[in-house]
Amino acid sequence: MTIEKNKVVAFQYVLKNEAGEEVERTGVDDPIVYLHGGHQNLLPRLEEALEGKDKGDQVVVTLPPEHAYGMHLENTVHRIPKKHLLTREKRLKPGMPIKVNTAEGPRDVMIVKVGKFNIDADTNHPLAGMTITFETTILDIRDATPEEITHGHSHGWDASEHHH
Ligand SMILES: [Zn+2]
Repeated sequence: MTIEKNKVVAFQYVLKNEAGEEVERTGVDDPIVYLHGGHQNLLPRLEEALEGKDKGDQVVVTLPPEHAYGMHLENTVHRIPKKHLLTREKRLKPGMPIKVNTAEGPRDVMIVKVGKFNIDADTNHPLAGMTITFETTILDIRDATPEEITHGHSHGWDASEHHH
């Protein structure tokens, strides 16, 4: 079975920055599981690169910022009340990537300064302005259930997840 529209795909990845340094990797027991076929569950260029691939294939995809997490914008530092931070981390410090709750949902930001009740955070994605490389390994592929196709996302590898 190869990756095509309305297949559910489980894969692992190592994400590297321009310098080839590891930024992120999926855990051994915690692969990414997504519904393939233009449902906007993955970066579109990454999804394109996985099209037609098979279980066990390794796919390396390098994406310039405009196809990854966007260009680095100026004047994007905002003051955010600490109660809006989605973290249990107590030792906040500058340079730390963090998730915050916004009107549009959770968002990745980078801490610039830490105050008593607020932090100053740069709302550029921590990987904005970077050319990044995903080194992926396809772990498994299955047919999507009719429900997953209707919803436009996977319900986990065993199709039993209901997180919404
Ligand atoms: Zn659903």
